Formats: sequence, C-alpha cells, structure tokens
Amino acid sequence: MSKKFNFEAETGRVLELLTHSIYSNKEIFLRELISNASDAIDKARLKSLTDATFLWENTKFEIKIWKDKEKNIIYLEDNGIGMTEEELHSCIGTIAKSGTKEFLEKLKKAKEDGEHNLIGQFWVGFYSAFMVADKVQIDTKSPLDTKAHRWLSDGKSEYEVSESERQARGTIITLFIDEANKELLEEWKIKELIKKYSNYVAFPILLQVEKEEKAEEGKEAKKELVWEQINETKPIWQKSKNELKKDDYNKFYTEISYDFKEPLTYTHINVEWAVSYKSILFVPEEKNMFVNIADPNTEYGSKLYVQNVLILEHAKDLLPVWLRFVSWVVETQDIPLNISREMLQSNSVLEKIKKNLIKKVLGELQKSMKENKEKYDIFLSHFWNILKEWIYYDTELKEEIAGVIKFKSMLENKMISLDEYREKLGEKDELKTIFYITGKSEQEVLASPYIAQFRENKVDILLLTNPIDEWLIQSLPQYKEYKLKSITASDIELKKATEEEIKEQETTKKDFKDLLELIKNTIGAEKIEKVELSDKIGENVGALKTPENGLTPQMEKMMKAMGQSMGKQKRIFELNPKNEVVQMMKQEFEKDLKSEKLKDMILYAYEQAILLEWGELENVAEFVKRVNKFVGK
Ligand code: ADP
Repeated sequence: MSKKFNFEAETGRVLELLTHSIYSNKEIFLRELISNASDAIDKARLKSLTDATFLWENTKFEIKIWKDKEKNIIYLEDNGIGMTEEELHSCIGTIAKSGTKEFLEKLKKAKEDGEHNLIGQFWVGFYSAFMVADKVQIDTKSPLDTKAHRWLSDGKSEYEVSESERQARGTIITLFIDEANKELLEEWKIKELIKKYSNYVAFPILLQVEKEEKAEEGKEAKKELVWEQINETKPIWQKSKNELKKDDYNKFYTEISYDFKEPLTYTHINVEWAVSYKSILFVPEEKNMFVNIADPNTEYGSKLYVQNVLILEHAKDLLPVWLRFVSWVVETQDIPLNISREMLQSNSVLEKIKKNLIKKVLGELQKSMKENKEKYDIFLSHFWNILKEWIYYDTELKEEIAGVIKFKSMLENKMISLDEYREKLGEKDELKTIFYITGKSEQEVLASPYIAQFRENKVDILLLTNPIDEWLIQSLPQYKEYKLKSITASDIELKKATEEEIKEQETTKKDFKDLLELIKNTIGAEKIEKVELSDKIGENVGALKTPENGLTPQMEKMMKAMGQSMGKQKRIFELNPKNEVVQMMKQEFEKDLKSEKLKDMILYAYEQAILLEWGELENVAEFVKRVNKFVGK
C-alpha cells in the first residue's frame, strides 16, 4: 500500500527551479548522491563504535553504482545507516538546510542574470537528481526501523511512500534518467564524473563495468560484468605532499567546505612529536554562504577523524570561534575511538593540536600577506572583523594577529599593515609610536583639528572607523615596541620646539593665563579638566582632546550603550592663540571680562570644537542663537 504526500512549499520551489531553469551543470547530481551515501556510511560506522550489533555482518563499506541501459536507469547503493520512515519524510520531503532561502534567492537572481553555471556552485543535495531523472526512487533500510521503505516521486508536487522489499542495511537510489540526459548512461561518462567530483570520498566507489574475456579461437569475445573501483580511498591527508598537486587540494577543499572558489591558502601538516596528527587547513579567500560568519554559533569547523574514523562533523573544539572561517580536517591516532563528545572537549591531545593549528593559521596568513598581496586584500575585506575579534580574545597572540591586519592610511589613502606603517616612519621612528584616530567615518575623523600637525610633519595616521576598532585599540596598547596612540591624546610632540619658540610660548602663556582660567569656569569645570594653548591644531579656533588614560568620546558612547556608563568624561580644551577669534576673545577680555559677548565667544569656540569631532551639542537652540547674534553683528 502506498501513500501520497505533498512536498512542503519551499521544497517544491527548489525542485521547480532545478528542473526548469538551469541545466548546464546537471552532472553534479552524482557528486551529491555519492556525498550523501558517504555521509550515511560514516554515520553507520560511528554508531557501530558504541553498538557492536549495529552493523550485522555487513561491515565492508562501499558505494556501488550500476546501470541498465535498456531501461535508462542508474542505480546507486550504499550500506550506510539508511533512513527510517520518519526520516524519509523529514530529510527527503523537506529542505531543512539553513541556506535554502538564500539559495533560492541567489538562484533566482542567477536565472534573471542569465548566469547558467551557478548551480554547480551550490550544494543542492538529493534534489539535484531531478535535473537528470524524471522519476527517482529510494529504497532504504535503517537498523532503527523494523521495516524497509520506498520513496518515489517525479519531483513535481508530491511523493509516494510504501513498503520496500529491501533486506540489507542502507539505501538504493534508482534514477530513471530522462531522454535529454541519456549520455549519462555511458560507462566512460559515469567514470569521468566520479573521478572529477568524488575522487577523495573515503569509501570505495565501485562501478559495474563491462570486461571482455579473452576470445577463444574462432569465437566472439564474451563480455562480462565486473566491479571496478573508480576513486582513490587513501585519505588525502595520509598522502605525502609530493604526491599531491594544487588541484587535488582545491578539489578536497570544495568537498569539505562547499566553497567552489580556490582557497586563499592551504597547508598540509604532518606532526609526529608530542602528539601525532595529520591535518590540512584551508583559509578561504571570501565568505562562504554556507557558513554564517557573522554568527559565532554557526556550525563552523570541519572534520575530526580518529584512527581514520570520522568522529565529528563540525569539530568546533579544534579551533577557536574567531577562526570559524577556516576549513580543516584533522586525523589523529592519539585519542581512543570510543571517546565521548564531552570528553573530547577537555582532551589534552586536542588541546595541543589546537595550539599548533592556531599558530599554523597565523603562519599561513603571514605568508599570504607577503606573497599573495592582491588575494590577501580580498580576504581581509571579508574577514577583518573576525581577525579583530581574535585580537580582542587572544591575549597571547594579539600582536602577531594585529600584524596580519591592515588599516586605512591617511597619507597613502589605502590599506596598510602596521609593519608598513613602521617602515614609513623614517626619521620619526624615534617616536616609537603608531598614531591613529577613531570615529564613525572617514569624513568625520578627517575633520579633526589634530590632523593638521600630522600633515605638516608628514606623519601618517591610521583611520579607524569601524565600531570594533575601539575595542581593538583597547586591547592593543602596543605593537612590537611601538605604542599605539590616538592623535587626540594629550602629549604628542611631533617636532621639538626651538628655544625661541619655547620662549615665545612662555610669554603667550603668561598673557593668556587669566583668560584661560575664565574660559574653564565659563564652560564648567565638570566638563573641562583644563584649558591650554596649542599650535598643533592648524588654523582652527580650538579642539578637544582626551586626557591621558581617559576615555575617548567614542568609547564613552559605546560603554554607555552597553549600560556601563562611567559618567561624563572630562576633556582638555585647546585654543589656538594665533586664530582671529581667539585674539578677539583676548581683546574683549581685556576690555570687559564680564561682557555677555565674551561669554558667547567662549561658548561658541567650545561648541565648534565639539562639532569638529562630530560630538553632540548640549543645547543646539542656544548654539544657533549665538551664531545668529554674531552674524547679525
Ligand atoms: P544534505 O545531504 O545536505 O543534508 P540532502 O538533500 O542531500 O541534503 O539530503 C537530505 C538528508 O537526507 C541527509 O541529510 C540525510 O539525512 C538523508 N539522506 C540522503 N541520502 C541518504 C542516504 N543515502 N542514506 C541515508 N540518509 C540519506
């Protein structure tokens, strides 16, 4: 007896798109089905580690493919874990993958743009079978179900489930190949597809092939069907590096990461020391739509094999969360096979491997930064927030990590590394300082009055305009003996003043002493720690800077947003004695130090300084009134 079921809505849409729109890369269907078969075998093997009866006698894992040319059928059989009736509905009748919606959107867009190759760039899973078959049947037996089941569908709106006669554990997929794809029934074609897409699947893929027997005298040669293994089953990480080409690594990368772009870099590690393990690590060039990088809880990480058995699909414990963009596989002989998930988390072997891997990733990044500049910049544009996060959390390696990030340089107007910054310091190297400014945008930070003296002295500034930069800078007070310092910090002396200049400054200081005191009181001692004269703010009237060890206004805002208000931070107000407005202030002070006009001038100068750092005025209406008063005069 069979029962009919409707596909859930999203599944129906995927099916429709697959079968009606983009046909050019249909050959990936075999890769998808083989990958499912291999996963199913992995699951069966893992289960058998804790339940010896699970496999029955059927322990020779393999994937078999054969065909019936007359009936236009391809069969694909595995002796994996199979599916229960419930799983048939939940796994095959629905598309439960998180990327589905995104996939649908991209697919639709690709269709509109006429980008017909895109389909090969997605892991569409089982449904790709409908790109080449007009009917697909699944017969499956799970050890967890007393009965075997059959699933049958033409991939349109419904599927049928009935009882199956299958006895053995595992699954057979029967593909009724459609007219347009008959070429797939050729032996050479199937061989080619297996080699091309599934060469490194860990279990033997056996194809039934025709072999000619030696012909007897005077008779026609007899043909015989035999099983031939098509793929290589020695895991790639077990091979020596000399055996492998870049292309082998790239293909393997696609298999484990679902990323179809070449990785930025990879490394093949074989350690036989305090712990022994083998690993291949890949750093992607771009974000991968299957890993939601923005989400630290994403299922990142790749496979952990213990004694060549796949133990964990997402071995998160092997790399810290801020390396969630890396794909890897690790194989070790140093852990018992029957270890539990909880034990894995605190396992000392894994701890050691983790430490090594982190260093390796860092090493790879350092190497690519030097040797592969263009690609590295693309990589950075995708991942620098994550690298910055890493600096914040990894106190031990933070300087090394900072070394592989780049920041916007004011003078060069492009991204540069901290080392490039250091190298360009030239005679200013003696300052042993890397200068930066933080803010919301480049436009904002470039308005800072403090930039003037840096331009004059040709000293570069890193423009840090990403919200995460504030945190980064808090955790990175120095880099290779160079202090990182905000240009609004209180003690920056780019050029030593001459004796003459010092003398002049002393006199001006005396001249202005009382006015400065009055300014402080007018603005309010709760806002201003002190008022000073400065020749370092270009032509501006005044500017605000942060006292040493004080919080920058940006940091203050962030703390407040997080509910950790530290109270209003006091600032230092600097005035440029050569500026016209300041000189007028001085004259007014000498004329009538209690005048309303002087008060307005002082507050106006202060408000300007706030605006120049894109701060918030306390009272905008008062400010406008003041400006109008001046304009009126
Ligand atoms: P994915 O493999 O990405 O999860 P698929 O659409 O290819 O997506 O498969 C959906 C699910 O169906 C799989 O996750 C698995 O649970 C189940 N499945 C598919 N093929 C098999 C198989 N040969 N044996 C057992 N389970 C399978």
